[in-house]
Amino acid sequence: MSWKELAQTQATAARILTNALTQGQLAHAYLIEGQKGTGKRKAAKLLSQSFFCQNKEGAEPCGHCRDCRRVNSGNHPDVVWVKPDGQSIKKEQVSNLIKEFSYRGVESRRKIFIIEQADHMTIQAANSLLKFIEEPNGETIAVLMTEQMQQLLDTIISRCQILTFRPLSRQQMEEQLVAKELPRPLARLSAALTNDIEDALEYCSNEWFAEARQKVIQFMEELINQSQSVLLKIYGSFSPHFDDQSKMDIGLDLILLWYKDLMSLHLERMDDIIYIDQLDLLNRQALKSSLQQVTDDMSSVLSAKKRLSAHVNQQSVMEQLVLMLQGGVSNEL
Ligand SMILES: [Zn+2]
Repeated sequence: MSWKELAQTQATAARILTNALTQGQLAHAYLIEGQKGTGKRKAAKLLSQSFFCQNKEGAEPCGHCRDCRRVNSGNHPDVVWVKPDGQSIKKEQVSNLIKEFSYRGVESRRKIFIIEQADHMTIQAANSLLKFIEEPNGETIAVLMTEQMQQLLDTIISRCQILTFRPLSRQQMEEQLVAKELPRPLARLSAALTNDIEDALEYCSNEWFAEARQKVIQFMEELINQSQSVLLKIYGSFSPHFDDQSKMDIGLDLILLWYKDLMSLHLERMDDIIYIDQLDLLNRQALKSSLQQVTDDMSSVLSAKKRLSAHVNQQSVMEQLVLMLQGGVSNEL
């Protein structure tokens, strides 16, 4: 990860930090706030690399010197990460951190500590930290990260420079996945399912997911052809692939996205199409079903999701859904 890359998704934060780095005017404490998957941790790592790298160009760290490599592998002696121990970050964790920092104070005065899920600090932990932030010792930088800024003490927030990380748009996520050489149809589909880039990456690199996508396409094809054997296919090939509740829930989401595509086709919003490599099939189906029909089918999928979350057996959820969707297609003709 480079600042240039970070700027593609978090332009404001990247600009603030690179300016501070090049002008030697880093704040003593930063608070990075934003949803899971927005790149908070990568940014903290990058900041640490830039802070210690001996060969940086402008703000960009070289990425391969000893300091850069040690930051990257989490082994840099002057970069300390603190995470919740169980449910919370306890006072001892923060006091140990402060102690460690003061021991090594003279030898190297440049240090960074990074607190993940800072909102999990107990009041006592937060108060110890506060004292430390208020009396900065040498060139020390505190980086706090949180998904829930409102849970932090106001006194902490007011002493930090706040960097807000925005959720990635579907397109930004898709481009990041494609840049990792993942196939675009899969990248687009997983970016449509989640707004967490790490989750999307996991979907994309998972064989089960690629196959799930194929199963859904086959299922839609059977439906469009009004095949008499849709239910048999469900028993034989579809259901075994989605053999627990969470997998079936993903399966239903994939079906729902298919109907959203039909809606996008009706509304001529071509840029919104998710199953981009299935335009022929989508067009055939769009010709057969009105916008109203598509809306009804989407409601059927949503109520199937509801039944599934109420622990109705997966097989009967699918059976009922097939009957509703088939009813829909034949009503239209
Ligand atoms: Zn370096």
